[in-house]
Amino acid sequence: MFYIGQKVICIETAYNNTTLKGRIYTIADINECCEVNLYLVGITHNVGLCGCGVRLKGSPNSGKRFKPLDDYWSDNVLDKIIEQIEVGELVEV
Ligand SMILES: [Zn+2]
Repeated sequence: MFYIGQKVICIETAYNNTTLKGRIYTIADINECCEVNLYLVGITHNVGLCGCGVRLKGSPNSGKRFKPLDDYWSDNVLDKIIEQIEVGELVEV
């Protein structure tokens, strides 16, 4: 679930490169049309269309291309750490 002020990580670079995969952004505002559209701090571009073709105010970004940072950490990083522990890749200190 997204909320204003939340940090999100881009999981798919925008076709116009305004948001890049792996970068972290902050949600400035949210618009819910047929899908969740996010307005991000510092990101402005000229594409104002929802995925369904409806024109939205400002510079919305499809919520599908972003994940809340907390979920991202728990889904990806923790899994990777656990994998590494299981295969014994962690160096003992
Ligand atoms: Zn829509």
